[in-house]
Amino acid sequence: MSARVLDGTAIAAEIRAELKEQVAALGFTPGLAVVLIGDDPASSIYVRSKVKACEELGIASTEMRPDANLTTEDLLAIIDDLNGRDDVDGILVQLPLPKQVDTKRVLEAMLPSKDVDGFHPVNVGKLWTGQDCLTPCTPTGVIEILRRSGIATAGAEAVVIGRSDIVGKPVAAMLLQANATVTICHGKTRDLAEHTRRADILVVAIGKAGFVTADMVKPGAVLIDVGINRVSDAADVERFFPGDTKRAETFAKRGSVVMGDIAPEAFAVSSAYTPVPGGVGALTIAMLMHNTIKAAKLRRGQQ
Ligand code: NAP
Repeated sequence: MSARVLDGTAIAAEIRAELKEQVAALGFTPGLAVVLIGDDPASSIYVRSKVKACEELGIASTEMRPDANLTTEDLLAIIDDLNGRDDVDGILVQLPLPKQVDTKRVLEAMLPSKDVDGFHPVNVGKLWTGQDCLTPCTPTGVIEILRRSGIATAGAEAVVIGRSDIVGKPVAAMLLQANATVTICHGKTRDLAEHTRRADILVVAIGKAGFVTADMVKPGAVLIDVGINRVSDAADVERFFPGDTKRAETFAKRGSVVMGDIAPEAFAVSSAYTPVPGGVGALTIAMLMHNTIKAAKLRRGQQ
């Protein structure tokens, strides 16, 4: 039987439609402030997509673009102002920040109730202690994909490769909260494949193209690929995607293709998997919108 594709784009569209209805029924307009420093093209594209998503859903967005030379103190003053603004429910500081700015101090200066990225230590602590809170967008998207695809987590062996604060750790906490038996693997893990071959649900967030191969996967496992990698070597493209004319065309046109951390050959032994692109990544902005609405409701004492 062929593996089921867990279509992140379709799930994200479903979530956005639900959120649009929710916003229309709120009786007030939630507000998101996005702070972008500098002119990194990738960050600018992300911010534009976030602002556009707000417009679609009826969320007010404020885009702030302070000068790239600002100091930590300058940015702390901006955060302080946004913390106090009644029209701002969520604050998002687009990372990475310039080298001279202390990212930790900036993230910790944000009111936890407005921290729609879920990176503030108060929200991290609440997540690990099973309290309702704002949770990081990408891991929240992973859980939504599993839930909306009817994949049972209770009692499942879940293995997460990667232990970053942004993806690996929070996704592990959320799987634990969803009653999975969770193993977290990382760069120092011995016999990695011994762990991954036990997984009913394997979440991979390491940032290495095609790292997980078919022999590392238990037949019938569910594969969640968080990795986003640009492959610009023609031999790699041919190795990972033999006979894939669409990818070959993309490569010929752009000089690279995007793929995840899981080699496509591994998808063939799974029961279901998230593609890259069009899987986990497709949900991230929808989950940011979800968090903004959640923050807006919580601030007004609504569930
Ligand atoms: P990161 O901070 O670089 O963390 C990578 C993790 O992978 C580390 O914990 C590292 O272990 C582990 N790792 C690296 N090589 C390994 C190996 N050979 N065996 C086992 N573990 C290994 O990366 P990240 O921010 O979590 O991002 C991971 C990937 O997800 C990237 O491709 C990123 O682009 C993607 N991503 C996607 C989204 C989205 O879909 N919207 C959002 C965020 C990230 P150590 O801790 O031991 O070094």
